Amino acid sequence: MIDRLNQPDYDRWANQIKRTGGCRQPIHLRGKVEHYDQATGQLLHRYSTTTEPNGVLRVACKTRRAARCPACAEIYRADTYQLVRAGLIGGKGVPETVSSHPCLFVTLTAPSFGAVHARREKNDRVLPCHARRDAQTCPHGQVMSCTNRHRADDPRLGEPLCADCYDYDGSVLFNAISPELWRRFTLALRRRFAKLNRLTVQALREHVTIAFAKVAEYQRRGVVHFHAVIRLDGPDGPNSPPPAWATADALAQAVQHAAAAVTAEVKPLSRAFQWGPQLDARRITMDGDLTEQAVAAYIAKYATKAAECVGTLDRRIQPLDNLDAFPIRDHARRLIAACMHLGNHPGLADLRLTRWAHMLGFRGHFSTKSRHYSTTLGELRTAREEHMRGQEITTGRLPLFDEDTVLVIAHWQYAGQGHSAGDALLATAITGTASGGHP
Ligand SMILES: [Zn+2]
Ligand SMILES: [Zn+2]
Ligand SMILES: [Zn+2]
Repeated sequence: MIDRLNQPDYDRWANQIKRTGGCRQPIHLRGKVEHYDQATGQLLHRYSTTTEPNGVLRVACKTRRAARCPACAEIYRADTYQLVRAGLIGGKGVPETVSSHPCLFVTLTAPSFGAVHARREKNDRVLPCHARRDAQTCPHGQVMSCTNRHRADDPRLGEPLCADCYDYDGSVLFNAISPELWRRFTLALRRRFAKLNRLTVQALREHVTIAFAKVAEYQRRGVVHFHAVIRLDGPDGPNSPPPAWATADALAQAVQHAAAAVTAEVKPLSRAFQWGPQLDARRITMDGDLTEQAVAAYIAKYATKAAECVGTLDRRIQPLDNLDAFPIRDHARRLIAACMHLGNHPGLADLRLTRWAHMLGFRGHFSTKSRHYSTTLGELRTAREEHMRGQEITTGRLPLFDEDTVLVIAHWQYAGQGHSAGDALLATAITGTASGGHP
């Protein structure tokens, strides 16, 4: 800290840190940008990191993972919120008329892989976990009953009553196959919705498009659920109204049917997976129980969470890592171990279970949307970067050039990431964020 404070370029360093918005693990870039006049070849402006503190420019890491960088994940969360919300009520280039399109909030769950400790409430009272009067004893001598009224922070929540009975392979295979199951669900939904309206899928496209935005959420037991906004548009997406016969009720009916009908197989193991029996499909309305703000906030929240809420590791696991040495609970360890041993199966190579063991087998995107759902994260980001660039121009850092007449040549090189312990403390003081030291 003292060393940094005594540097003659401390102010410049502090300025860089402020611009990262409190990023916990800023990326260090080394390089230069040169602006040339297209016509004459004259160098108009040069920026180089050689004059920056330590010869690098520190930029925000832009992760979406709150566990890695709270400041950057917050920006991602806010952008996701705007994106989902624009798809529900318009804005950011999406017409406001979209709010009149039939729209559902759908939750697709995972099936059971064995009884787990659960906290259930009824009328504000916590119920016993698994109260069974004539509970069976499993082959491992475990009575399959639990009369605990678990507290919300009980670490056993989501863990199996008997770990030896629990289908760990099934759990990680479901995570691995769930993106495919989702894809099949969307195809089946289009087919069913067309059929309900006595149309072919081809003919349906001339009247209706079905738009999606979804997030994956890890349950405490370590499997993913999907939450999705499903909206009916006219043939040209959000700009065109769907026909009157394309109703929310018909959509809900098609969702129920498609969710129950689809299967995804893991052929080498002769296993097939379906969605769990709990399916929730509710209408999103401007004034009802389920408002567009609530849905957007919900989806955005899960977009920044990954498997860490299950208590797994926040990094890739190497084949030679000693699983027993990880400071995690046995349940997470067994899920990871299942990924590692299934990952060795030659027929399952395309599931890449070893690579995604720390994610308990899930390698999909956390938040995805169909092409016509609303604006994109990229557009929101560009808008923000242009705003920042505008600020740079007005503060005299970059001269204002006409984009079309100027040739920009940039060379950038990755030069590391994170803060030293002293820098991390100073960064916290400067940006007012809890910025952890570099691991
Ligand atoms: Zn960051
Ligand atoms: Zn229990
Ligand atoms: Zn057992």
